[in-house]
Amino acid sequence: MRPYILAETNWLAIQKTQFELAILPWGATEAHNYHLPYSTDVIEADALAAAAAKVAWDKGAKVIVLPTIPFGVNTGQSDIYLDINLNPSTQFAILCDVAETLNRQGVHKLLIFNAHGGNDFKAMVRELGLKYPAMFFCTAFCFGSVDKKEFFEEAGDHADEMETSLLLHLRPELVLPKEQWGDGKAKKNKIRSFSEGWLWTERKWSQVSADTGIGNPHFATEEKGEKFFQAMTHKIGEAFYEVAKADVNQMYQ
Ligand SMILES: [Zn+2]
Repeated sequence: MRPYILAETNWLAIQKTQFELAILPWGATEAHNYHLPYSTDVIEADALAAAAAKVAWDKGAKVIVLPTIPFGVNTGQSDIYLDINLNPSTQFAILCDVAETLNRQGVHKLLIFNAHGGNDFKAMVRELGLKYPAMFFCTAFCFGSVDKKEFFEEAGDHADEMETSLLLHLRPELVLPKEQWGDGKAKKNKIRSFSEGWLWTERKWSQVSADTGIGNPHFATEEKGEKFFQAMTHKIGEAFYEVAKADVNQMYQ
């Protein structure tokens, strides 16, 4: 039983602990190329949040990891079979209900720990802050915590070398044999400004990628996944600790 994982701990332990920071991992349930499980983002969010929370807990921060939300924003994959979409407005409603409980019970910091590219919590953090002024909200995209280029040969952003390596490390029994991996080839928008990133629109996933992957998984290995996971765990764990201990009224220097 890990005392910083709400789903594992119990009323006997909880009622004696004053938590400083709640962490809400958020994934998605969606196709990840041919070879990775639909729960890839949930597995990543779960494992990273738990490992990083252990780092923070061992240093003395009272953090509590809430159960991972399994559905994410999949509006661009509405024609991909059983990709389950949660609209941003539904996500906001869920966040308000979670914040309502934490706020009432005196856990005044919430970190939304995101592992899915289609989820975007920044605007929600702004709105939640106005709605619950006694609370501190922040959000992290977990894969942004370290430089992917130091760990992987090919860039990508969905079921790519990075995610395949991570799953080979975390849940190898759920990864299909290499002969069945798609190449993750993705088309780019004909209008160059979209590829430059400053002009944005949602990608129509099934028109961009045949196997649903974006990024070549070919060079993925379990060793790369483990190294990347350890580096992220350390960095994220430090951040959890710092946020838990911070005086939110004295954040700037
Ligand atoms: Zn993913």
